Amino acid sequence: MDLEQKTELVSDALEKLYGAPEPDIEEDVLECLILTVLSQNTNDVNRDKGFAVLKERYPTWEEVLDADVEDIADAIKIAGLSGQKSRTIKNFLTWLKAEYGELDLEFIREMETKDAIPLLSQHKGIGIKTVSVTLAFACGRDVFPVDTHVLRISKRLGFVPSNCTAEKAHELMPQIIPKGEAYPFHMNLIAFGRQICDARKPKCDQCPITTHCLYYRGEL
Ligand code: SF4
Repeated sequence: MDLEQKTELVSDALEKLYGAPEPDIEEDVLECLILTVLSQNTNDVNRDKGFAVLKERYPTWEEVLDADVEDIADAIKIAGLSGQKSRTIKNFLTWLKAEYGELDLEFIREMETKDAIPLLSQHKGIGIKTVSVTLAFACGRDVFPVDTHVLRISKRLGFVPSNCTAEKAHELMPQIIPKGEAYPFHMNLIAFGRQICDARKPKCDQCPITTHCLYYRGEL
């Protein structure tokens, strides 16, 4: 069985467990990108709390742009890495205003994915995962973000080599994922990683895809 067939079977098995989620393409593109920056190295709860405080103190992106980096960092501190994230946010907003005249990323919806990826990922602190999440979640593009759960499971299943980095996995995974399945497959792998294929103690006795798993067979 080749890897394309294997991802298709795993994707189908996970859809039986979790359904086929669809992205909320009504989501504001800039808001999605900033939320994704805040999500780095933290959980969804603290990401959302950091974002809520930021919006409470600075209701518009113009106000965030005008704020000092230290004050932005203070607003988002619950999300962690606040010094780094505040610089990323400020630098990105500064670029957006200078290049496009307004703090609005909706124009990304009109761009081809191959052009949007380098445009957004040229900025320090905005890597391929952040860009992929923004394009998949807010714009409904068929791109596949690789987070820590997705990378771990992809290695266990042999989709990518055991020493593969997240960056490299962003190149490899799109080559083997069924067309149109990137978003549901990503979401379902995350749910599966949280509920069954845990990092430390995977619940292999509850797993519907043991036949596809190198880890289960002791081959990793
Ligand atoms: S068999 Fe275990 S390690 Fe392999 S995918 Fe299933 S839960 Fe994860």
